[in-house]
Parts: sequence; structure tokens; C-alpha cells
Amino acid sequence: MVCEQFEEVMKETTRKWLSAGISLSKDKSIIVACPDCEEGTLMIKDEPIMDRKGKVERWLICDKCGAWNTILGADAE
Ligand SMILES: [Zn+2]
Repeated sequence: MVCEQFEEVMKETTRKWLSAGISLSKDKSIIVACPDCEEGTLMIKDEPIMDRKGKVERWLICDKCGAWNTILGADAE
């Protein structure tokens, strides 16, 4: 059971992660603030997906608090 307030916070954070992912997919050199701590910046790490040629699993990792998220199926460079 999750309280409503917690769900709201989660939605807001999820939205920020999503927009960070979209911004970084357009331009990898931009600096995006961490959606969790809002102090660190997100680093990108791409891992190839074995059975999906040309696609990668993109990791967004905060250099300060260590929060992370992955985007599955991002386009490889
Ligand atoms: Zn952070």
C-alpha cells in the first residue's frame, strides 16, 4: 500500500527522469540535473542490447547521489 502523497512524488520524479532522457537523447553533451537530488548531474552509459541491433540500454547515473535510471531501446550512436 502506497500513500497518495508518495505516489505524487514518484510521478513527478519519473516525469523528470523521462524528460532528462529525452533531452540527453537529442544532445548528449548537455548537462542535466539529477531528478532525485537536483544537485548532481547525470552521466550516460550505453550498453548494447544483444538481440536488438542498433539499440542500446542507456543508463543515466547521478554523479552525486548515485541515483540511476535506464532507458531501454535507445538508438545507438
Ligand atoms: Zn542525484
